Amino acid sequence: MTGERNGSGACSVGLDIGGTKVLGVLLDEAGAVRHSVRAATRPGVAGVVASAEQVVRQLCAGAGLVPQDLAGVGAGVPGLVDPGTGRLSYAVNLGIHERAVDLAPLLSARLDGVPVVLENDLNVAAVGAARLLGLRGDLAFLALGTGVAAGLLLGGELRRGRHGAAGEIGHIPYDPSGPRCPCGQQGCLELYASGAALDLAWPARNGRPAAADLFAAAADGDRRAVAVRDRFADAVAAAVRLLVLTCDVEHVVLGGGVADVGPPLLEAVVARAREQAARSAFLQSLAVPERVQLAPRGVPVAPVGAALCVRGSRAGRAQPVGS
Ligand SMILES: [Zn+2]
Repeated sequence: MTGERNGSGACSVGLDIGGTKVLGVLLDEAGAVRHSVRAATRPGVAGVVASAEQVVRQLCAGAGLVPQDLAGVGAGVPGLVDPGTGRLSYAVNLGIHERAVDLAPLLSARLDGVPVVLENDLNVAAVGAARLLGLRGDLAFLALGTGVAAGLLLGGELRRGRHGAAGEIGHIPYDPSGPRCPCGQQGCLELYASGAALDLAWPARNGRPAAADLFAAAADGDRRAVAVRDRFADAVAAAVRLLVLTCDVEHVVLGGGVADVGPPLLEAVVARAREQAARSAFLQSLAVPERVQLAPRGVPVAPVGAALCVRGSRAGRAQPVGS
């Protein structure tokens, strides 16, 4: 579908289509962000396509381009994705869940035939984090948002799994005697390590996000806040340990809304990871805490990764790390 006029050096657009907003970037041929745009997401198939089209056209207009000048558009979406066909299913947050939708072809048709690559939002975040942090080697992007899940970049390629469910570690039981999870199991990690879990454990009082409120109160010495923070950090450290033990990833990048807390989150997670390894020479030998870092803040990690996936898709594979 790539037009003749689109040389390999053309600009590409990356989108992160979330439940409330679409974030888009225009990447130039050198891989630098030239423009970024944010717009509200309208729900449902027609709404999502229209919102995405609007962002792409705004990005192009800002650079004096038309969509056909682009090498392609990469879009990260929260749901199960078939990157080969651009089909999306189970995207509850986008209001697309009753049936699978061929989102990439629909968006491509609205953008004058420009190739559109669809990918899971955590996968594009993993690709973007590797690029923006300059990391080589196997990487997991651990998103601490409404839920908990990871995008996996292994051997320079995205690991999706048979059903696109690779990295869905939020539904691994963490406390078998814990409360029932909406997924039907009990005590899933997501009930302890997610932003939604923090909202329940520490209802924010100052209009700030619960995570920011909790970590500030803990820093001030509030003993209950310290206990809630440490229990949360313990669950996140367990997620990190899981990723290291299953995939031996060199890097675990903490992202998602909770990561906006910044260094205090990293410190708390590293402290709990050390604690978990205290009695295990085996865990100590794996140096789990040294593998954890924060996603870059104030940088559109997922849209950049989505734009990079356009290039990777041409070779039939994900963008190799650091290239
Ligand atoms: Zn569950």
